[in-house]
Amino acid sequence: MSIHSELTQYLSELRLPTIKKLYEPIARQAQSNSFTFEQYLYELAQKECEARRNNTIQRYLRQSQLPLEKTLETFDLKRLPLKLRQQFNALCDGSFIERKENVLAFGNPGSGKTHLLCALSHELVRRGQRVFFCKAPLLVQRLLNAKQELKLARVIKALSKFDALFIDDIGYVKHDRDEIEVLFTLLAERYERGSVLVTSNLPFSKWERIFKDPMTTAAAIDRLVHHCIVLELNLGSYRVEQAKSKSSARDTSKNL
Ligand code: ADP
Ligand code: MG
Repeated sequence: MSIHSELTQYLSELRLPTIKKLYEPIARQAQSNSFTFEQYLYELAQKECEARRNNTIQRYLRQSQLPLEKTLETFDLKRLPLKLRQQFNALCDGSFIERKENVLAFGNPGSGKTHLLCALSHELVRRGQRVFFCKAPLLVQRLLNAKQELKLARVIKALSKFDALFIDDIGYVKHDRDEIEVLFTLLAERYERGSVLVTSNLPFSKWERIFKDPMTTAAAIDRLVHHCIVLELNLGSYRVEQAKSKSSARDTSKNL
């Protein structure tokens, strides 16, 4: 067997696909640039680590179920007041996740809550943190199905592998007892164990509409706010604003 095919086999066995793919072209580069042995090995090790990191991030992104287009690149941060922008920038370093803190975004429909927390989540995934995005009604439905199949504990455990659980539009949960109970169980299980990101059109004072009775509401709020960062988006609807600016641009061009 030639050294080439044996080496290829060793590299497969060691699960080093990038080195396997690149050791020959990089060897040629090394020769023409007079790399030291260490430099050559460094190049290969670096490329392997880089590819692994990228693969992990791609996997985390798929698992996150985040809407792909709602990133920081497509979000107009200038629309946010300075304080909110600063809060957002501070969150992007991901340290709140290590502290198991929650993030709650409140504001009118269309103010950009979902997009803002999705942009944050994308930044976290890019840093190698695991986020799971789910719209509240769908999440509750999944938990209910799991409960019926006596798998609720298992599903909640599966969700615990994520560093942050993003529950979008928590106000849109339907209102029957079972739904509230599973959502509450999830929040109670996650309390101080992992971050929760929540968006809601309803301020806390109206959360009785979500959790129905005052005791459950108070307990749910208590768990969420104990360690949390609140983002208040007291802004108008982005879409309405866009539509208005488009129509006024049209009017201006008509008048020209
Ligand atoms: P909310 O969750 O508060 O109801 P969304 O995040 O769904 O609002 O925003 C409504 C629409 O406006 C979405 O299509 C979103 O991408 C867009 N949008 C909102 N705020 C911004 C912004 N600052 N920059 C770019 N797009 C935005
Ligand atoms: Mg939303």
